[in-house]
Amino acid sequence: MTAPRPVEIVGGGLAGLALGLGLRRAGADVTIFEAGVYPRHRVCGEFIAGLGETTIARLGLAPLLADAGRLSEVEWFFRGRAIRRQRLPAPALALSRHTLDARLAEAFSAAGGRLLTGTRVDTGDAPEGRVFSTGRRRTPSPWLGLKLHARGLRLTRELELHLGDGTYVGLCPVEDGRVNVCGLFRQRPGITAARETILAAYLRATGLDALAARLADAEVCTESCSAVAGVSFDRSGSAGDRMNLGDTFAMIPPFTGNGMAMAFQSAETALDPLLAWTRGETPWDDALQLVGDGLQRRFRWRLATADVLHPFLHAPPRQRWLTAAARTGMLPLRPLYHLLH
Ligand SMILES: Cc1cc2nc3c(=O)[nH]c(=O)nc-3n(C[C@H](O)[C@H](O)[C@H](O)COP(=O)(O)OP(=O)(O)OC[C@H]3O[C@@H](n4cnc5c(N)ncnc54)[C@H](O)[C@@H]3O)c2cc1C
Repeated sequence: MTAPRPVEIVGGGLAGLALGLGLRRAGADVTIFEAGVYPRHRVCGEFIAGLGETTIARLGLAPLLADAGRLSEVEWFFRGRAIRRQRLPAPALALSRHTLDARLAEAFSAAGGRLLTGTRVDTGDAPEGRVFSTGRRRTPSPWLGLKLHARGLRLTRELELHLGDGTYVGLCPVEDGRVNVCGLFRQRPGITAARETILAAYLRATGLDALAARLADAEVCTESCSAVAGVSFDRSGSAGDRMNLGDTFAMIPPFTGNGMAMAFQSAETALDPLLAWTRGETPWDDALQLVGDGLQRRFRWRLATADVLHPFLHAPPRQRWLTAAARTGMLPLRPLYHLLH
């Protein structure tokens, strides 16, 4: 009998760690190379919408998500004015990335996986058995992501989504009485501020003064303040010439709260074809094709819908149209939710 072929995963974010955990639970030989360390804060809205029980069970995620918040209502605001309250068709989960990524890393190691942190791999090479889950692609983009945790920030609903000038910002409760505040902003070169104050500066510059004032009354957890520039929605990772998962395959605009679910779902999609390859039952090219086709089928519609809707969330003339439609109840929120998740 020949030894199972080993899998190498480059990138230990949600997609890479979840895939590693799923493979280890099936007895595969897996190594994850991660450039960073755990735990660490990540720029992320930290609510997970559209993650189904089947994916959770298949990847063994249930114990890691058991104490995540369950959010069932969202309130939308346009420049500080409440415009619409929406009951979510299914509860979104809320958990900080600081906790979630570290829990996944621990579970992967406890399952016998090799995790090499602080190890950046050259992504030029794509030999058989190597999977890429290195996150969003680094291409020129005007988008800046900012996030922080705050204590003592009262929410009007479990989840708040604020539209400002060239921005949207989400607020949701995470662990230890903290609220995660995270926004996607059009970068403004004129704004320079310290790490702890840059989010507030962007809120004020984009017409979200009321939110900035609420933040000023709260206690900012300085160690959580994070930023990422060049957030791109480039789709070239879905070309199919290598096994790309999660954001490396395609990043969905964050207002959907679906990027993390997609990271997990892409790991789930890759699991069986990869296991068949490790056992020598499938050639690598077939596994590659199966995963690529599976991801296209699974994500095509939601990516297309999100791309169409994204400008309505941040571009002022379209935001006004969206706001009017939402207030008059003309926006079919439930069907849109199902298209996006
Ligand atoms: C502003 C903003 C808000 C968001 N809000 C939400 C939200 O509320 N809900 C939601 O579901 N999604 C949200 N997302 C999207 C979500 O964060 C991503 O979809 C998710 O993190 C994708 O997981 P991933 O595993 O593909 O990538 P990541 O989590 O980014 O992991 C990639 C990993 O690869 C590592 N890496 C990169 N290059 C290398 C290399 N060469 N060698 C070794 N390691 C490497 C990195 O260090 C990183 O740990 C948001 C994104 C942004 C930008």
